[in-house]
Amino acid sequence: MKIHEYQGKELFRQAGVPVLEGIVARSGDEAAAAYEKLGGAIAVVKAQIHAGGRGKGNVIDNPNQKGVVLAKSADEARAAAEGLLGKKLVTIQTGPEGQTVNQVFVEAGCDIARELYLGIVLDRAAAKPVLMVSTEGGMEIEKVAEETPELIHKAHFDPAVGLEAFQVRKLCKKLGITGNAAKAAMRFMPAMCRFYVDYDCELAEINPLVITGDDQMIALDAKITFDNNALFRHKELLELRDLGEEEPSEVRASNAGLSYVKLEGNIGCLVNGAGLAMSTMDIIKYCGGQPANFLDVGGGANAEQVTEAFRILLSDPNVKGVLVNIFGGIARCTTIAGALIEASKTVGFTVPLVVRLEGTEVEEGRKMLAESDVDIISAVDITDAAKKIVAAAAEVA
Ligand code: ADP
Ligand code: MG
Repeated sequence: MKIHEYQGKELFRQAGVPVLEGIVARSGDEAAAAYEKLGGAIAVVKAQIHAGGRGKGNVIDNPNQKGVVLAKSADEARAAAEGLLGKKLVTIQTGPEGQTVNQVFVEAGCDIARELYLGIVLDRAAAKPVLMVSTEGGMEIEKVAEETPELIHKAHFDPAVGLEAFQVRKLCKKLGITGNAAKAAMRFMPAMCRFYVDYDCELAEINPLVITGDDQMIALDAKITFDNNALFRHKELLELRDLGEEEPSEVRASNAGLSYVKLEGNIGCLVNGAGLAMSTMDIIKYCGGQPANFLDVGGGANAEQVTEAFRILLSDPNVKGVLVNIFGGIARCTTIAGALIEASKTVGFTVPLVVRLEGTEVEEGRKMLAESDVDIISAVDITDAAKKIVAAAAEVA
């Protein structure tokens, strides 16, 4: 689950990670009032969307309206907010269709002496979280990693111990941070690592992390992704979820307890088990096709879930064919067959359908399908099924 910058900064503040004063605004007037309330000469109006690159991105059809705008008066803050609110902002992370801005964050201006990068992710190979810092703040870190990896400095830390003082000292040396700024880092970096662990983050990224003219260290940006599997431990975070920022079909799927990820291809897949779903997608690609989604209905899927899964698949206009690949374990083939028949009645299959069933109650399941009037292309095994759906979908498209 992702959250907005302003929400992340509020959590940072509570965790003792320094941020600037800021106020959320949902209209031009609110932005102007926020500017007055902050009371400084300079404020920054920042579009709030779940994507980075806002500073360089701009509103669709208006290259002059950037996603992060400096305002030197209440009127400038109002104009910036009005130029962003309700508009679609396109950045390198949103795709060409952009993302609608529903709120802006009006933040106090900052006297930036240096822009650094700080990010924490889980290093699966090391089985530990890793803190990464770089002098190349404000840049795309993926680019830095590719072109000048030596400029990214890493420190793995034990989640139970946190980041240790000697590790901070080493990183400061590499970043050329001394004096009071180094003292600030001694508080800032361990606090961020604690934050990452305490909230079960997948990613916590501050780009840029700034050192101010008077040697303070401040998080000027906040990009946080929480591990969904740990959200049950953080009920308070669920309130921060912004469904408007998420892919609607994925929200629908998660409400039905399905694991669904929308992809770019044209073959809808309905599979039980994540491993089987991955190999089904592989074999579709191997046979020259492109999967339209990853969909795992789970081991214990019931008829309602499977029917909803078909609805989600078929509501994607890109889907030109559906491949059902079920290995009945706890979920019986008869359940899937029943849901398939139900879905064909309530949703209707307008595209070719290939079904491969194996496992628990397979004979009964196949019999149900054979006796129904659902139009199915039969397949002997998964390779045969993949070949057939790729061919059938190509004819539709
Ligand atoms: P994004 O990463 O989405 O482009 P950032 O929050 O990193 O958005 O802002 C982009 C740039 O805008 C920063 O690199 C920084 O130079 C500038 N900026 C952001 N917030 C402030 C602020 N409060 N004061 C001064 N400059 C800011
Ligand atoms: Mg940034």
